[in-house]
Amino acid sequence: MVENIEELSFDIPDSILDEIQQNIQNVIRTFDIPEENKLEVIKQINYIYTRTKYLSMTDELTGLSNRRCFDSSFEKEFLRAKRYNNKLTLVIFDIDFFKQVNDTYGHQCGDYILKQVSNAALQTFRKTDSVFRFGGEEFTVLLTETDIEKAIIPLERFRKTVETLNLSYQNQPIHITVSIGAFQLNDNIFSKEEFLQKADEALYEAKNSGRNKTVLFSNCQ
Ligand code: GH3
Ligand code: MG
Ligand code: MG
Repeated sequence: MVENIEELSFDIPDSILDEIQQNIQNVIRTFDIPEENKLEVIKQINYIYTRTKYLSMTDELTGLSNRRCFDSSFEKEFLRAKRYNNKLTLVIFDIDFFKQVNDTYGHQCGDYILKQVSNAALQTFRKTDSVFRFGGEEFTVLLTETDIEKAIIPLERFRKTVETLNLSYQNQPIHITVSIGAFQLNDNIFSKEEFLQKADEALYEAKNSGRNKTVLFSNCQ
């Protein structure tokens, strides 16, 4: 086993660390590295591999987990929830009228808003919940072991946090809101695509009913 992997400061899930350890062991076995150099070689490979993996999973602008990471986490959590009958709620949220922010204050201001909203999401949701940048100004959250009744609490807290964020760009106050859609997995959902579609429909409903809303669906509708 690599001894010093905990020295790495990146926030990498245990499953990924196991994969990294396995790959390093394979490299060590393949090349006949002298005993006295082994630890240094392990350290170097470990660093490069972990850093590369981290970059491949992270959205550069916001520091959140990226779409690739979402796809694999979503698949894993979906299968786990189906197999063990665990509760799982999928959330999609989207910044309201974000195009207007870019058009009025410029793209850099838009980027600043994306970072602030991402920080608010990281501070609101539990460490065990994963927040992802799904694309553009859309984000997803996987609420494990959480049903729709429990999900409403952090989701409303987050919506209100964003609504009351004290944001300004070049001395101009900027008011931002988000619309949130969420769906709890149930026996009528057979694929992760269907699951995503249901959460998306809830988001659509939140947008259609005036924005700055949280809409939660728990049954097929
Ligand atoms: P709605 O309330 O219906 O969601 O309206 P909207 O204006 O938020 O949605 P729309 O899909 O019309 O616009 C999304 C905008 O997000 C357009 C796109 O230029 C902008 N955007 C996407 N990614 C980024 C980014 O990384 N940085 C910045 N600054 N803008 C981005
Ligand atoms: Mg939007
Ligand atoms: Mg959008």
